[in-house]
Amino acid sequence: MQTADVVLIGGGIVGSSIAYHLVAAGCKNVLVIERETAQGKGSTGKSMGGVRAQFSTPVNIQMSLYSIPFYASFEERIGYPCDYRPQGYLFCATNDTHLAYLRANYKKQVAFGLKDVRLVNGAEIRSQFPQLRGDDIVGGSFCSTDGFVDPYSTMIAFMTWASDHGAILWKNTSVTGIQRSAIDSGGTFEVATTRGAVSTRIVVNCAGAWAASIAKMVGVDLPVEPLRRMLVPTEPFDQFPHTAPMIIDMSTGFHFRPEGRGFLLAWNDPEETPGYKMDFDPSFIEKILTHAADRVPVFENVAINPKRAWAGLYEMTPDHHPILGESPDVPGFFFANGFSGHGVMHSPATGKILSDLILVGRTDLIDASLLNFSRFAEGRTIHETAVL
Ligand SMILES: Cc1cc2nc3c(=O)[nH]c(=O)nc-3n(C[C@H](O)[C@H](O)[C@H](O)COP(=O)(O)OP(=O)(O)OC[C@H]3O[C@@H](n4cnc5c(N)ncnc54)[C@H](O)[C@@H]3O)c2cc1C
Repeated sequence: MQTADVVLIGGGIVGSSIAYHLVAAGCKNVLVIERETAQGKGSTGKSMGGVRAQFSTPVNIQMSLYSIPFYASFEERIGYPCDYRPQGYLFCATNDTHLAYLRANYKKQVAFGLKDVRLVNGAEIRSQFPQLRGDDIVGGSFCSTDGFVDPYSTMIAFMTWASDHGAILWKNTSVTGIQRSAIDSGGTFEVATTRGAVSTRIVVNCAGAWAASIAKMVGVDLPVEPLRRMLVPTEPFDQFPHTAPMIIDMSTGFHFRPEGRGFLLAWNDPEETPGYKMDFDPSFIEKILTHAADRVPVFENVAINPKRAWAGLYEMTPDHHPILGESPDVPGFFFANGFSGHGVMHSPATGKILSDLILVGRTDLIDASLLNFSRFAEGRTIHETAVL
C-alpha cells in the first residue's frame, strides 16, 4: 500500500499552500489528492482574487497580516508570480452606522499592526472617483496594500514548488472513504481512493465546499455549507480608471474591480440559499447591473456577454471564520475548511498555521484555539461581519 506522512484531500489553493508550507518546513512525503483532472475546478478557479486586511475581527486581520506580505514577496519566495496588484480596497459608507463600523474596524486594524489603512472623507472619494454617484457617500476606509492576486497562478505556483521539492499530486483521483485504526494499534488512517488505498498518520481535509462529505467519512459533522456566488465580467470598458481599487458600496454590497480591459462586478444576492448550485443564473445580470448603474452611472453603458459570467461556491461556516486544526474526536485528522469567501487571501496564513500545527503542535501566527472545531460546541464563535 502507498504510504505518506501527510495526505491532503483537495488540490485547490488551500491544499496547495499547505503542501508548500509542509515541504518548506522539511516534511517531504506529502501526498495531495485531487478528484478533478486539473487543479482549480473547485472554488479557487472561480474566485475574484481579492486580498484585504480590512476585517472586523483580530484573527482575520492577523491572518491577512501574514498573507499580504507573503503575496508581496511571493515570486522571491517561490520563483513563480502570483500577480499581486496592491490597488487597495475602498469601502464607501452611505450612513453613520456604516461609518462608525469602519471607524471601529480601523482602530482594531491599526492596533494589530496594519500600517496602510486610513479613513477617508466623502469629498476625497468624490474627487478621486467623480464617476461614482457620491451625493450620499459620507466617508470610507482605504488600505493601499489590499488588492488582488491571480488565484489560479498562485495555486499552481504553490503546488509546483511543493512537487519540485518532493510532494506528490494525484489528479483525477477521488477519496471515497477513510478508515482509522485504534490508537493502540498505531492510529493510522487508510484513505481509500479511486487509485488504491494510502496509509498515513495525518489526513488534512482541504476539500473546500465539499469538506462536510470528507468529514463525514470519519464520523464528524462539519458545519460547512456551499453557497453560490456569481461574478459578471464586463466587456472592455474605459470610462472608469483601471488603476481603481476594489470599490465596495456598503449601501447594497455591490463591489467591483478592474480586470483585464474591463471590470469584474460582484454582488451577494441575499435571496441565495445554500446548495451545490454551480450554474450561472442569467437573471442575476439585470439585478447586479441595477446596483452597478446606481452607484456608477457610466456602467449604464457597459456591455456584458452573459456567456462569460460564472458561478462558484463559497464554503460558509456559521460564524464566517474558517475551521482550522485537529479534530478533537479523531486525532490525526485536521481541518482547513470553511473560509466563507476568504480562502484565497488567507491561503498563505492557512498553510503556515496547518504546517505548524501538524509538525510542531502549535503556532505563533494566531491563537489557534479561536478557530478550532470545538468553538461551536463550546459556544465560542466569533462573528466576522465584513463579508462581501
Ligand atoms: C465567485 C467567488 C468569488 C470569490 N472571491 C474571493 C476573493 O475575492 N478572495 C478570496 O480570498 N476568496 C474568494 N472566494 C473564495 C475562495 O475562492 C475559496 O475560499 C477558496 O478557493 C477555497 O480554496 P480551497 O482550496 O479550500 O477549495 P477548492 O478550490 O474548492 O478546492 C477543493 C478541492 O477539493 C477537491 N475535492 C473535493 N472532494 C474531493 C474528494 N472526495 N476527493 C478528492 N478531491 C476532492 C475539489 O475537486 C477541489 O478541487 C471566492 C469564491 C467564489 C465562488
